[in-house]
Amino acid sequence: MPVAGRRYGAVVIGLGAMGAATLYQLAQRGIAAIGIDRFDPPHDQGSSHGETRITRLGVGEGPAFAPFAIRSHEIWRQLEAKTSETLMVNCGCVVIGQEQDAGDPNKPRFFGRSREVAETYGIEHAILDRAALAGRFPQFTGLDDRDEAYYEPGAGFVYPEACIRVQLQEARRAGATVLPNTVVLDVTQGTPWVRIETTAGMIEADFAIVTAGAWTAKLLGAPFDRLLRPTRQVLHWFEADEPSLYEPEKCPTYIRHFAHGGGHVYGFPTPHGATGVKIADERRTAWTDPDARKSGVTGGEIAAFHSAFVEGRFAGVSPRLTAVKTCLYTEAPGVNFLIDWHPAMSRVMVVSACSGHGFKHSAGIGDAIAGMIGDPKEQQYDLRPFALAGFG
Ligand SMILES: Cc1cc2nc3c(=O)[nH]c(=O)nc-3n(C[C@H](O)[C@H](O)[C@H](O)COP(=O)(O)OP(=O)(O)OC[C@H]3O[C@@H](n4cnc5c(N)ncnc54)[C@H](O)[C@@H]3O)c2cc1C
Repeated sequence: MPVAGRRYGAVVIGLGAMGAATLYQLAQRGIAAIGIDRFDPPHDQGSSHGETRITRLGVGEGPAFAPFAIRSHEIWRQLEAKTSETLMVNCGCVVIGQEQDAGDPNKPRFFGRSREVAETYGIEHAILDRAALAGRFPQFTGLDDRDEAYYEPGAGFVYPEACIRVQLQEARRAGATVLPNTVVLDVTQGTPWVRIETTAGMIEADFAIVTAGAWTAKLLGAPFDRLLRPTRQVLHWFEADEPSLYEPEKCPTYIRHFAHGGGHVYGFPTPHGATGVKIADERRTAWTDPDARKSGVTGGEIAAFHSAFVEGRFAGVSPRLTAVKTCLYTEAPGVNFLIDWHPAMSRVMVVSACSGHGFKHSAGIGDAIAGMIGDPKEQQYDLRPFALAGFG
C-alpha cells in the first residue's frame, strides 16, 4: 500500500488510457511508480469506456501523431502475447467521403491526409471508388455519387477497458502501486520533489505526470483552464435486423463524411459476444463540467440522431436502441494534444491527449512519457507539435 511518507520516482495522476499506459511503461523501466485514480479503473466516468475505440495508422489528424499509433500497435501485440488477452481486432477501417473535400473544419482534408500519412509511413492502404466500396462493404447505403474511401486493412478497433485493465495489471506485476478511489486534491513542487495532496494523505515523488483527462483544468487551473474543454459525447448501439452483416470479418470500422456538409459519423462492427451496432457522431460544442455532466440521453436526442445519420445510410440498422452511453472528450485547440512540462512546475508533466482521438495513441504516448522521465536523452518521439508554446 502507499504511502504517505514513502518517496516515489514518479506519480501518475489519473489511470485512464494515458495514465494506465504511462504507469505500465514506468514500471517496465524499473521506476518506483504509483498511479492514483478518483475511481476504480477501468470505469465509465471519463473518456475511456464504451466497448471499442477505432485505431488506424494513416492518421488523418496529421503526421505528427502517427509514431504514437504505430508504437501502440506494437505494444498491444506484445501485451496480448504476454497475457493471452485480446486487445485489438484488425478488421480494417474505411474513411468514406471525397478526397478533394475540405471536410470537417476541425479535421481539414481528413481523407486526403489519411492517404498522405499512410504514404509517408508506408502503411498498407487502398483507395476504393464508389462501386468498389459498395461492392465490398454493403453495410454503407445511400452513398453519394462522388463517394470514395480510404481503406486501411491493418486498422480496426481496440477494447479500451481491457487495454487499461491489462496495463494496470502488468504495471502492478512489475512493481508499481495502484491506488484507486483516491482523489488528488493538489500538486505542488518543492525542491527537488513534487508533493501530491490526496484524500489518502500526502505523497512525494521525483516527478508527477498529470493524466487527469477532463479534470485536468480543474486540478491545475491556469493556463490549462483556458485551453482544455470537456464536451459530452453520446454513443448509441442499435439493434441490427441482419446482425451477420456487422460481424468484424465483414464490416470494418469507419469514419463516414456525408456529402454537401452533412457532417460525419463513425462506427464499428459488433465484436463477437456483444450486441448492437455502435454508431456515434462528434459534438464539439457541448462544453460540460466532468463532475456535473448529464449522463442521461433523451428519446428525442436518439431519434434525431437515427433519422439524421443512420436511416437510409446503414443497411438494416433499426431505430431500436440496445444501449446508450455518454462519454467525455477533452478538447484542446485544433483538436491537438497537449503534452508538455507544467510552465511553473518543472517536474510535473501534463498529458492531455484526447480531443476525441487519443486512444489509438495511448500506449505509444505512455512509452514516450516514461522514456522522458527515465532518460530524457533517449527520447525517440518528437513531442514539439504538442508543446504548450504552440497553443499561443
Ligand atoms: C465517445 C468517445 C469516443 C472516442 N472514440 C475514439 C476512437 O474511436 N479512437 C481513438 O483513438 N480515440 C477515441 N476517443 C478518445 C479517447 O478515448 C481519449 O483520447 C482517451 O480515452 C483519453 O484518455 P485520458 O487518459 O486522457 O482520459 P481518461 O480516460 O478520462 O482518464 C482520466 C483519469 O483521471 C482520473 N482523474 C481525474 N481527476 C483526478 C484526480 N483529481 N485525482 C485522481 N484521479 C483523477 C479519472 O478518474 C480518469 O480515470 C474517444 C473518446 C470518447 C469520449
